[in-house]
Amino acid sequence: MKRVLILASKLGYQTQAFADAAKRLGVEVSLGTDRCHKLDDPWGDGAMALHFENAEESASKIVRETMGDAPDAIVALGDRTTAAAARAACALGLSSNTAEAVEICRNKLRQRETLKLAGLPVPDFFAFALDEDISSVLTRVLFPCVVKPLALAASQGVIRANDAAEFRRAVERIRALFDQPEIRATRDGTLDRVLVERYVPGGEVAIEGLITEGRLRVLAIFDKPDALEGPYFEEAIYVTPSCLPQRTQDAIADCATRCVAALGLVTGPFHAEFRINEDGVWVIEIAPRPIGGLCSRALRFGDGGMSLEELILRHALGLGDSELARESAAAGVMMIPVPRSGIFEGVEGIEAARRVRGVEDVLITARLHDNIAAWPEGSSYLGFIFSRGDSAEEAEAALRVAHSKLNFVIRARLPVEHPVTGRITA
Ligand code: ADP
Repeated sequence: MKRVLILASKLGYQTQAFADAAKRLGVEVSLGTDRCHKLDDPWGDGAMALHFENAEESASKIVRETMGDAPDAIVALGDRTTAAAARAACALGLSSNTAEAVEICRNKLRQRETLKLAGLPVPDFFAFALDEDISSVLTRVLFPCVVKPLALAASQGVIRANDAAEFRRAVERIRALFDQPEIRATRDGTLDRVLVERYVPGGEVAIEGLITEGRLRVLAIFDKPDALEGPYFEEAIYVTPSCLPQRTQDAIADCATRCVAALGLVTGPFHAEFRINEDGVWVIEIAPRPIGGLCSRALRFGDGGMSLEELILRHALGLGDSELARESAAAGVMMIPVPRSGIFEGVEGIEAARRVRGVEDVLITARLHDNIAAWPEGSSYLGFIFSRGDSAEEAEAALRVAHSKLNFVIRARLPVEHPVTGRITA
């Protein structure tokens, strides 16, 4: 029986989807997570407790604990797990990207430097330390710009600034975000620096792909039909197939292929964002991992509707059929945005939203009575709406109608005074 080790910092829906796919394939699954490193068996499910920010230590632990019983593949979910997965896979002699390649991808500054050096179209950028004098940093900034953390994901802390005052406010907001206990707990080594880059105007797409021996196969190009102009960049709708002209899609695929080579990626899932304007295709970000959250449900392959998770496992384990093409139907997913921060007290209209023609499902993933944060502090959506149709326009329209049926009840949090600084936060 083949064995796969899944590394994930959230043991949520995506991990479950991989576990389900593995079960269908008769593949044994073990898990590694860093959700609670104080316990040896955080969920009583045998998950290995790891500290992903220390990739070397995590990899050694994986090698040690799987001794004599090594997995046939390691799958990394989310950005934080990729370095540990690559190091462990290399040490175990499994097919993998090099640790160097995934570590470059993981750090937005290193990724920009590498892509720029290879002549790929990236916006001008520089990084500065949060303890630098902002007035002197400002002498280097060209507006409009985007300010972003080096290693967070899901657009958390990504802020557009159009002038010096907005820039100062954006930096303060990122500083406060870095001070939050959940972010501190990641012990990421880049939480003292910020990346600044020119704002790239234009439409945006996401690519989902699979790399085999350095060759990228594009599984889907998703259009993002909403204007993503900031100041914050939470995602909303993804639809595929893309409505862009074929030559533009080819240019995007070509740019993605060049990024794969420049970054030295050789195998496994690939997710990336690009912007397109009259100057051509611009790289926004490349990640050697599958699309996050529940979005993969928008993708099905072959006549039998194989899931992305199954396709990735088949690819990683050499089980065949990982060359299947995406189904012919158009598909869409909406990551339901958080309209404002507060306490999530419920949602009305789910059944009405589910009844909308073309809608396949509506899933609310926010937990009742939990605090939810809007962007840029936030990084989790309220839930997901899935649709299918004869065309991408149809799939998109179904998502919008379904979303209009939902009414989220979000209660304002009472302001809290910090016991030491006296700062009031809502
Ligand atoms: P994350 O990894 O947190 O998602 P990204 O760097 O991919 O961070 O940025 C998130 C989103 O912010 C992008 O999908 C894009 O919409 C927007 N964005 C980021 N950088 C730029 C830029 N230089 N110009 C325009 N938009 C940008």
